[in-house]
Amino acid sequence: MARYIFITGGVVSSLGKGLMAASLAALLQARGYKVRIRKFDPYLNVDPGTMSPYQHGEVYVTDDGAETDLDLGHYERFTGVSAHQGDNVTSGRIYQQIIAKERRGDYLGATVQVIPHVTDAIKEFALADQGDHDFILCEIGGTVGDIEGLPFMEAIRQLRNELEPLQTLSVHVTLVPYIKAAGELKTKPTQHSVRELASLGIKPDVLLCRAEHPIPDSERQKIANFCNVRKEAVIPALDAPSIYSVPLQYHAEGLDTEVLRGFGITDAPEPDLSRWYDVVDRHSNPEGEVTIGVVGKYVGLQDAYKSLNEALVHGGMAHRVKVNINWIDAEVFEQGDSDIAAQLEPMHAILVPGGFGERGSEGKIAAVRFARERNVPFLGICLGMQMACIEGARAAGFEQASSTEFGDTEHPVVGIITEWMTEEGLQTREAGGDLGGTMRLGAYDAKLAANSHVSSIYGGSTVISERHRHRYEVNSAFIDPLEKQGLIFSGMSPDGLLPEIVERPDHPWFVGVQFHPELKSKPFDPHPLFAGFIGAALEQARLV
Ligand code: GLN
Repeated sequence: MARYIFITGGVVSSLGKGLMAASLAALLQARGYKVRIRKFDPYLNVDPGTMSPYQHGEVYVTDDGAETDLDLGHYERFTGVSAHQGDNVTSGRIYQQIIAKERRGDYLGATVQVIPHVTDAIKEFALADQGDHDFILCEIGGTVGDIEGLPFMEAIRQLRNELEPLQTLSVHVTLVPYIKAAGELKTKPTQHSVRELASLGIKPDVLLCRAEHPIPDSERQKIANFCNVRKEAVIPALDAPSIYSVPLQYHAEGLDTEVLRGFGITDAPEPDLSRWYDVVDRHSNPEGEVTIGVVGKYVGLQDAYKSLNEALVHGGMAHRVKVNINWIDAEVFEQGDSDIAAQLEPMHAILVPGGFGERGSEGKIAAVRFARERNVPFLGICLGMQMACIEGARAAGFEQASSTEFGDTEHPVVGIITEWMTEEGLQTREAGGDLGGTMRLGAYDAKLAANSHVSSIYGGSTVISERHRHRYEVNSAFIDPLEKQGLIFSGMSPDGLLPEIVERPDHPWFVGVQFHPELKSKPFDPHPLFAGFIGAALEQARLV
C-alpha cells in the first residue's frame, strides 16, 4: 500500500506549493522510490479548461486528454512521471458526480451531505489507482482557512485516522516574513496557520517555511515549540536562484530525510542527485545567449505560457545557452509594418504560441510573414501553426485566407471538423457544443514524412505521439496549393486526414505543429523541437 504525503499551504497563496510538491517527489524518486503527485483544487469549475489563462494560468493537458491545473506540469517536469485524469480533481467535478448520482437515485433516499458524501468522494479519489507507488503526494490548492477547502481538510483528517499510523504525513507550507523596519523575521503567521490547521484536526509533521532571509536556529526552535514539531522538521525554504535548484536546496535543508523519518524510514538509500546537479550546472553556467520573440496574446501573465517558458529554457540547456524571452503582444503588430521590423529584427528566432480567438491574429500572421521573408527561425504551436498556414495561403494568392474560428471566410484554411477516426473508432465533435470538453484533447500519433526536417529533428522517428488541445484543424483542401507555395505537410494523423506538422524546406528552420510539444519537455530531457529551435536561434545569433 502506498504512503501518503498531504501538502497544505498557509498564511498566503502563491508560496509555490506545486513546485515544492514536485521537488519533494523528485528527491524521493532520486532515492529510488516510485512516486505520483495529485492535486486537489477546491474551486467549483469542473476543470480549468474553460478558465481564462489570465485567471488561472495555463491549462495543462495530460496524455489521456484531461485539462488540468498547471501544477501538474511542474510534477511531470520534475519527476518525468506522466500525469493523468485521475491526478487532478476539483470540488466542481466531485459535486458534479455526486449530484448525478443523486439524480439517478443511487443514494436510495438518503440525505446527501458534505460529510460523508463529499468527503468520501475526496478520499476515494486520493486512494484510487495506487499501483505499486511507494509515495503518493497530494497537494491541496488554496490556503488553510479557505471555506471551499474545508471538505478536503476534513477528508485528510479522516484518512489520517483510517490509514496505518506510519502511512500518512502532513507537510504544511508557510511564510516567515521579514519585517524590514524591525529587521526581524516573524514566526507569528506560521503559528496562526498551524493553529488553524490543528483546529481542523490535522497536526503537521513537517513545516516548510518560505523566507527571504535565512531563518536563525533560535527562530527554528521557536517555531518548533509553538507549532508542536521537531526543530529538524522546520525546514527553511529560502528563495532559490532558479526553480531547478529547489530540489537540491531542500535536500541540503534535510526535507527528504525528515519526511522519511516521519514514516519511520531511517535506512533509505542516499539520493542520486546527479541529474539535478547537471541541470543546475547547464542552467547557471551558460556559454552564450539567444533572444526569442514570442508573439502571443496572454503576454501579461507568464503563468499563461508556463510550459512554453520552461520548454524554451530546456532547449537552452540542451545547448548550454541562456534563453531570453521577449514576450510581444501580437496586437501591437496590427498598427503598421514599421513596428514589426523594429521589434522583431533583434530576435534570433520567433515563436507564435497557442491561443484562442481572433484578437491579435493579424499581428501573429504578420510575425509569421516576417520570419518567412527574413529567414528567421520560426516555430508555430497550435494556433501558431494555423497562422503559418493562413500566412502561406495568403502568399499563395488566397487573400481571404482565415480561420472559421474568427468568422465566416471565403478561404477557410483553418476550420472546424466534426468527425475523425482514431484507433478507438469514430470521434465526433459538435460545432456548436459546450466550450468545456469539445476539443481534440490529449495524445495522438502523427506520421512523419521520411527525410523531412521534422523526422530528423525527432532523431529519424517516423511516428511520434504528442498532446493536443484545439477545436479547429488546418483544412486539407488547402494542402496542394500550400505545398506549391513551399509549405510542406510533413506530419499527418495516421489516417492521413489531419495535418499535424508543416515545414518550409527553403527556409533555415520553419516548423509549425498542431500539438503542444512544450507539455512534454523536461529539464533533464529537453524536447527535440525546442532543442532544435534554440539550436537554430543560436545559428542565427552567429549570423547577425
Ligand atoms: N484556437 C485554436 C483551435 O481551437 C488553437 C488552439 C490552441 O492554440 N491551443 O483550434
